[in-house]
Amino acid sequence: MIKKHYSTVVIVWLMSCLIAPLADAKTNVVTSTPGLASLVKEVGGDHVSITSLAHYKQDPHFVDGRPSFLLKLNRADLVIYIGLGLEIGWLPPLIRDSRNAAIQAGKVGNLDASTICGPLLDKSTGKPDRKFGDVHPQGNPHYLYSPWYALRTVENIAQRLSLIDPKNKRNYYDNLKQFTKALKAKVSRWEKTMSRYKGKPIVGYHKSLIYLVDWLGLSQAGYMEPLAGISPTPKHLARLATHMKQNNIRIIMSEPWYDSKVAQVFAETVNALLISLPGDVGSENTATYLGWINHLINQLDVGFKKVYHSEER
Ligand SMILES: [Zn+2]
Repeated sequence: MIKKHYSTVVIVWLMSCLIAPLADAKTNVVTSTPGLASLVKEVGGDHVSITSLAHYKQDPHFVDGRPSFLLKLNRADLVIYIGLGLEIGWLPPLIRDSRNAAIQAGKVGNLDASTICGPLLDKSTGKPDRKFGDVHPQGNPHYLYSPWYALRTVENIAQRLSLIDPKNKRNYYDNLKQFTKALKAKVSRWEKTMSRYKGKPIVGYHKSLIYLVDWLGLSQAGYMEPLAGISPTPKHLARLATHMKQNNIRIIMSEPWYDSKVAQVFAETVNALLISLPGDVGSENTATYLGWINHLINQLDVGFKKVYHSEER
């Protein structure tokens, strides 16, 4: 009798082990950056589990590949990355060594988000010169600074999730519809806020804001880096300082992983305001993609007001 009862318990336990993972099975998505992870969350909702390899405080061009990344990639159903060479220094070898056939290049579990994100800006006209240090040899990869590019990216993600997990396709597209509506409403507000600054010049530390500048109709007046990925040199900064003073360019923008001391000293030298932008989704007040862009717009609005208001007085 005891033996029979024990057998029943074992069978029930085994069945629950087999059924539970099926019932709870989520599509396991690994992204290179937190911005992409937040976009996956918008579409995937509860049907996906998401991990970003890079932290929001890390320069996505240069991330240290940790052994734990291999484990995450080994268990992934889908890996999504920005592309255009952004992660070329660290992600491709990890994907190769992950022992996961499903996420290798060309497979449905491998999504290069740049493939249909929108028209690429800053495309190289000559030979790629990464050997000289240019980390944007295939075009500018910082397209998520524009919500319109983020929208195309989310559409791309919804399509890919639906291929991998067709039973939840409807849910993914419902989520996409909701996100699109929320994004468009915000974009109207942001564009209205920033319309008064059209044509205003800014200098970036890195060549990362070109999509933001293009979207908002600002004017890109130079970069502290002489070439994307190359630290500022005295010669380059001297030339840039002259240009900024002659043209009354008063705003410099930089992400947190660049040398803030160099940026601050340079800003003071040229009587400009340094705006430190959160480089990606993830800090306390930028927990979602829309929250991140909202924060960027607020910071720009405050910065522009400060500079141009002080000029008017
Ligand atoms: Zn870059």
